[in-house]
Amino acid sequence: MSLTELRQEYSKCNKCSALCKSRSQVVFGSGKEDADVLFIGEAPGASEDREGIPFCGASGQILQDLLKSVGLTREDVFITNTILCRPENNRNPNRKEVDACRSRLDKLISLMGPKVVVTIGNFATERITGKIGITKLRGRAFSVEIDGQQYNVVPVIHPANLLYNGRNPEILEQMKKDFIVIKKVIQEATGRKLEPGQARLMDF
Ligand code: URA
Repeated sequence: MSLTELRQEYSKCNKCSALCKSRSQVVFGSGKEDADVLFIGEAPGASEDREGIPFCGASGQILQDLLKSVGLTREDVFITNTILCRPENNRNPNRKEVDACRSRLDKLISLMGPKVVVTIGNFATERITGKIGITKLRGRAFSVEIDGQQYNVVPVIHPANLLYNGRNPEILEQMKKDFIVIKKVIQEATGRKLEPGQARLMDF
């Protein structure tokens, strides 16, 4: 199966009745389909649901700047979410919804075979590592088995966290540090050197 076929299979998914009502489209993912690095967020928000692209709103702008700070663009990586459909009023995804999207995400990971998986925030981190507590897990590299294969996984703070906390500079510093870890893990896993871009991280 190809990624295009997987995208097609889920384009009309109706496993979750509440999400079928709250979404206007399934937001499968965007970026480079054979990327070495896969980013996994929580769920599409209003902008993502409208545009059909993950992380295209305010959180996405922060993510884009953080990527740039370590020499990456969103076209260099693939970005998806723990669940593919926008929950009503951006409520948290529930366990049944995360489970309903489980085989899709596992399939995506085994088709892509990324060298590094970055889990953004608590939901993606728990879903992939089985561990809870982003504050203690962030910026550390884990080896996680998915469908019999080992993957390098780095949990990071969700950009929404920065937005909810009035762009607290301490949180921003932690996020930048997390991306330096991502950069190191990518360089080790791919043998590719990343050159930092000129991100305007303080001007969000
Ligand atoms: N937050 C997420 O977790 N995912 C998105 O796609 C957008 C915002």
